[in-house]
Amino acid sequence: MNILQNTLVALKSRRLWYAGLSVVCALSLDACATAPIYTTGPPPLEVPSQTAEVQVSEPPVLDQQPLLISPEITYGARHDVYHIVAPGETLWRLSKMYDVPMDTITCANRLGNPDELTMGQRLRIPNAAPMTPVIPLYPSRKWKYIIIHHSATDEGSALGFHFAHFKRGFNQGLGYHFVIDNGTKGKPAGNIEVSPRWLKQQDGAHCKAGGMNYNGIGICLVGNFSKERLSEKQMHALLYLVDKLRKYYGIPLSNIMGHGQVNGAHTECPGTNFPWKEFKRRLQAL
Ligand SMILES: [Zn+2]
Repeated sequence: MNILQNTLVALKSRRLWYAGLSVVCALSLDACATAPIYTTGPPPLEVPSQTAEVQVSEPPVLDQQPLLISPEITYGARHDVYHIVAPGETLWRLSKMYDVPMDTITCANRLGNPDELTMGQRLRIPNAAPMTPVIPLYPSRKWKYIIIHHSATDEGSALGFHFAHFKRGFNQGLGYHFVIDNGTKGKPAGNIEVSPRWLKQQDGAHCKAGGMNYNGIGICLVGNFSKERLSEKQMHALLYLVDKLRKYYGIPLSNIMGHGQVNGAHTECPGTNFPWKEFKRRLQAL
């Protein structure tokens, strides 16, 4: 049996499948409805009084180990680096990303409680390998679509979007499941950041049209692709991520679309310059 078949068998026997939408979401979220101003300032001190986010379902029970995947990086020497802790990142994750033992990172930064990293915290990673994303794939029948976005900003990272989305009333912050960086805010171009929503297998807050927040995986490319062109590094990362996701979850090509291609969405996201023809051609060749 292949991975997908194994997954389906496991799902039947492990009650991952849950029923019932307890709340009809009339206020679902859309991270790209307007071009937001993203900042990387400190987290907001107060929780917004009006939160527009309504979860339409319980998250699946994460009682199975995810499959971990990482894109191959074959270039770059080891050296000390500084890392800004992003939402959802743990010492275990950083250890995997940089191929450095957890104890080494703990000692180098004199961490009192290594179980509690703080978002925005700056850590020294001694003798780090080139950063490699660690992407978990969880058995699930939830995901039917992949929705591609751009940030409509020149700069950004998961951390900055997380704080910005909090300020907009998304009570869980970052509305996407993945962010692909463009080389700004201290993140390498083409780096894939994994959002807490993905780590918890929660609904997104990225595309209210078509119910995509419920069954669409939201990927945001940092940049404004109505003004600029997608870089090869970001394209390469996007192809890698979408290819792995679509094969693991059995998502057809027709269900991989831009935010603006979803029925009812009124946006040019992910930008008028996004190279759909090239993207689909290269994706099919993988
Ligand atoms: Zn969008």
